[in-house]
Amino acid sequence: MTLSPSSPEQVALVTGASRGIGRAIALHLASSGATVVVNYASSPESAEAVVAAIHEAGGRAWSHRANVAEEEEVEAMVKTVLEREGRLDVLVNNAGITRDGLLMRMKSADWRQVIDLNLTGVFLCTRAVSRSMLKARSGRIINITSVVALMGNPGQANYSASKAGVIGLTRSSAAEFASRGITVNAVAPGFIVTDMTRDLDQGPILAAIPLGRMGRPEDVAGVVHFLACDPAAAYMTGQVLQVDGGMVMR
Ligand code: NAP
Repeated sequence: MTLSPSSPEQVALVTGASRGIGRAIALHLASSGATVVVNYASSPESAEAVVAAIHEAGGRAWSHRANVAEEEEVEAMVKTVLEREGRLDVLVNNAGITRDGLLMRMKSADWRQVIDLNLTGVFLCTRAVSRSMLKARSGRIINITSVVALMGNPGQANYSASKAGVIGLTRSSAAEFASRGITVNAVAPGFIVTDMTRDLDQGPILAAIPLGRMGRPEDVAGVVHFLACDPAAAYMTGQVLQVDGGMVMR
């Protein structure tokens, strides 16, 4: 399925696409015919491997290094995409980190680093793409939050606060942009097997997942793809879709 049958040459920017969930999203969107910009921060080889995999499958992609927490780097990245491709149709705000620790002992630096990247980074990327999307009167913005934004998690005060902030940002930007044809939605994964969750003890986690398995990056990518598709998801905005095997039912 193409992202948009009426506009086949779509361009998607996926932040943190060198590994894990972002990598799966990049591959999925590219397989739908979109040109994908693979953003990364510190893993050029991994990002180039994603680009190579997309090329091998007959798709179009290139990589761009930018720390999404740095305003100037984000502005430069979006400028480069617009200069090179002439358009930007889909933004997936996926880049994220954890710096876990119990609140009582949490270092302020760990609090700030997680908020700067996971929340301010989403703001900076959204603001940077908004000008061209508002002008084009179309666009899809998809923010990756987490179920811990909804349920809380001991040891993740910084992370769950950042991800709860992303939900508020999603809804406010959805309300601001709706009249200009731009939708903004969030996807809230549960526990997905990536570098981020590699060291977790799966036993207690599996017991809390009705579907009985950890998620795969592809499970998240499929839902992101749906939200990027036109007209399939054209009438959805400001929503949070959980991809968690039924772990948090509300
Ligand atoms: P991951 O495997 O650790 O990959 C993180 C990605 O983010 C990498 O591509 C990394 O790039 C990039 N990144 C890190 N810092 C960055 C920065 N400053 N600027 C730009 N990119 C940066 O993580 P993941 O598990 O795939 O998680 C992806 C998203 O899903 C995150 O937002 C995470 O919070 C969310 N999520 C994950 C889970 C889960 O269970 N895994 C659950 C819920 C939500 P480099 O390779 O260059 O470092």
